[in-house]
Amino acid sequence: MHTHADVVVIGGGPAGITFTNALRKMKPDASVIVLRPERHSMVYCAIPYAIEGLFDPPKVFKRDELVTDCGATLVQRAVSGVDLAERRVTDEAGDTYSAEALFLATGASPARPPVPGSEAANVHTVKTQEDMEALIGCVEGGARRAVVVGAGAIGIEQAQAYATRGIETYLVDIAPQVLPAMLDPDMTAKVEQTLKDHAITLLLSAQVSELQVRDGRAFRVLLSQGEPIDLDPDKDFVCFAVGMRPDIDLFRDQGMEIVKDGIVVDGRMRTSIPHVYAAGDCCAGVSLIDGQPISGKLATNAVPMAKTAARVVAGKDDEYPGFVNGAATCAYEQRVGATGFTETLARQRGFDPVVGWGETTALFPMMPDSGSLKVKIVADARDLRIIGGQASSTHPVTDKMDIVSLAIQQRLTLKGLARMSYSAQPWQSHFPARNAIVQACESGLEAFAARGEPYSYHALPECVI
Ligand SMILES: Cc1cc2nc3c(=O)[nH]c(=O)nc-3n(C[C@H](O)[C@H](O)[C@H](O)COP(=O)(O)OP(=O)(O)OC[C@H]3O[C@@H](n4cnc5c(N)ncnc54)[C@H](O)[C@@H]3O)c2cc1C
Repeated sequence: MHTHADVVVIGGGPAGITFTNALRKMKPDASVIVLRPERHSMVYCAIPYAIEGLFDPPKVFKRDELVTDCGATLVQRAVSGVDLAERRVTDEAGDTYSAEALFLATGASPARPPVPGSEAANVHTVKTQEDMEALIGCVEGGARRAVVVGAGAIGIEQAQAYATRGIETYLVDIAPQVLPAMLDPDMTAKVEQTLKDHAITLLLSAQVSELQVRDGRAFRVLLSQGEPIDLDPDKDFVCFAVGMRPDIDLFRDQGMEIVKDGIVVDGRMRTSIPHVYAAGDCCAGVSLIDGQPISGKLATNAVPMAKTAARVVAGKDDEYPGFVNGAATCAYEQRVGATGFTETLARQRGFDPVVGWGETTALFPMMPDSGSLKVKIVADARDLRIIGGQASSTHPVTDKMDIVSLAIQQRLTLKGLARMSYSAQPWQSHFPARNAIVQACESGLEAFAARGEPYSYHALPECVI
């Protein structure tokens, strides 16, 4: 069967769903067909908590009505072939589709490093429904020991899920710290301590060199340094959480510009092929801060990219400004978040970073469970523009990081963000006199002054145009 539509969307994740709804809202007459193979779209961020047993796993499934209620047609099949220039698509059942425009939103899949033994049956990754069910099968099937490879946000959340289910858990990373892409080394101590306090064995600066396999199942994990970890091959398991690779094989060798991190798109989400758009994890990204390539495989990037694409396809001009990369995770009660560049990344990208610190309790200090809050701000010494922030607290930090993200987007300087007007209340913040973000900016200004470079506070701009 052949069907023609105004737009064919390949992929039913956050990018595909957001694009479809936004486009149909702006152009209710547009015919849109969405193809995706999985039985359910999923809230991937909630998978660790389903494995941990906080709620019934089906609660991570999204309803198909998220696509169909807006009038789009959902076809639950994989696309097996695409002719980008002709905008023709073939699905796994052999049906074909043509369209005025294609929207590519095929996302990314977990990377499996080329470590000998990594294809063994008890070696997993985490993304799909099948992954989630296999991991739940492991924790409920009597696993005694688990090895998580990769101490990024996904790895930490997996380790916590297994340890909470009573499994002896090892968390291995080649970097000397946890969350190397999110936090500077001076922000990780509380996360690392909290993981250890919950009996997770942290093996940092260690690389998995081989998984020894018998009868198709791994029974020993060999590390570049330290003792091997023995596994019961029938029950124990390994989970790789070492990053995501864009799912773009369908689109190769058709003249579309593609780099290692994904499809190259411009600010209007146009690929190099006319009338073919893309957004989300299948794309390579550009940083809003310096306009240079940066990875950002986050739902919080996929959604605004897809909205921009929908506006452009609907004929309303729009431009996506690039990734800020606000993100957060938690290790038990310790929550951490980050946005923009870390101090380390800023240096790698040629900045001369000025750093400031704010440290308070998360609530008024006399309140029960007032907790702790530490904020780090990173600014560019050339103009004191905010280029990054990190926070660590026993209370949520996403609100703090969103403020810093907005400061980055609006090109505020340390002075501009230090002048932020804020609210305070005993259950919800520290004392009015000490807002940790303001404190961090003021400390950054002091650090800049301490360099001895002459400047007039009065003359400093609050934002850099
Ligand atoms: C465990 C986990 C936790 C996460 N936690 C967070 C978090 O806390 N915060 C955050 O911002 N991000 C988080 N992310 C990342 C976030 O889920 C992704 O950035 C987001 O899903 C990307 O959306 P997308 O639509 O671009 O791609 P995806 O969600 O990957 O969707 C891609 C879609 O394309 C489909 N597809 C692929 N190939 C084909 C084909 N050949 N034919 C048809 N369809 C195809 C897929 O089946 C899928 O429907 C997490 C990811 C994981 C795995």
